[in-house]
Amino acid sequence: MFDSFDRRINYLRISVTDRCNLRCEYCMPADGIELIPRARILKFIEIAEITRIAVDMGVTKVRITGGEPLVRRRIVELVKTIANMDGIEDFGMTTNAIALPQFAQPLFDAGLHRLNISLDTVDPQRYRELTRCGELADAVAGIDAAVAAGFESIKLNCVIEESSDESDARGVAAFGAERGLPVRFIRKMNLATGEFWQVEGGEGGKCSTCNRLRLSSDGKLYPCLFSDLCYDVRELGIEKAIHRALDGKPQSGHRATREFNTLGG
Ligand code: SAM
Repeated sequence: MFDSFDRRINYLRISVTDRCNLRCEYCMPADGIELIPRARILKFIEIAEITRIAVDMGVTKVRITGGEPLVRRRIVELVKTIANMDGIEDFGMTTNAIALPQFAQPLFDAGLHRLNISLDTVDPQRYRELTRCGELADAVAGIDAAVAAGFESIKLNCVIEESSDESDARGVAAFGAERGLPVRFIRKMNLATGEFWQVEGGEGGKCSTCNRLRLSSDGKLYPCLFSDLCYDVRELGIEKAIHRALDGKPQSGHRATREFNTLGG
């Protein structure tokens, strides 16, 4: 499928929850965000139907994100359902790795191909400060479990202030190099002003080649992470919402959406 600027749209990112087990200082307020009532969160059967229709319309790449996708109960079941859909060539997840010691092998066995793992520092004290409640050792154990499980690709996402030459970023680069894991550096966006940058070493933020649609955990399709435009799948119906999102996808983003913490990744 193509948008109105002739970009081929073949990538669906699905946020399965707005909940998270960390409180990264650049992403969420210390006391969390106002949560979507559970009754409004898409059920697995709805996510599967939306994904199936999107794949029939031309999506070949799917990524699961959040919030933190591994805090969604029975996430492995959803991964298995999506992995079994014909037409998906590339199936990934973005996670903070904290729960990967438990989930890496079941996710791999369920058919997930790739993992992007967020890691902003390898200093335990800095990790505690940045995430407000996380332990670096848990994330590292999760990364090691992912490597042991045998994923096709594991990339590290590292948020930087301005440059990949900062000391936290250099530490993550060295950690990645030791394990043979590529690192992408994401410049910290200001969620108050919406200012955003392209991802160093990745595709994020390159509007001219953007191939993505995003589904929020309460069923809204966002054609662009840097715009608040969205189309409600439950109100419009799945196909109409997809068509509206294609038609409405802006040529370029202008400010990071307020929903970034529940939709990004
Ligand atoms: N919980 C998962 C994780 O940590 O990877 C997925 C969701 S998280 C919102 C997705 C990505 O967004 C992470 O890589 C995180 O670092 C990034 N992110 C969140 N807030 C950001 C900000 N203000 N600027 C840049 N990246 C941000």
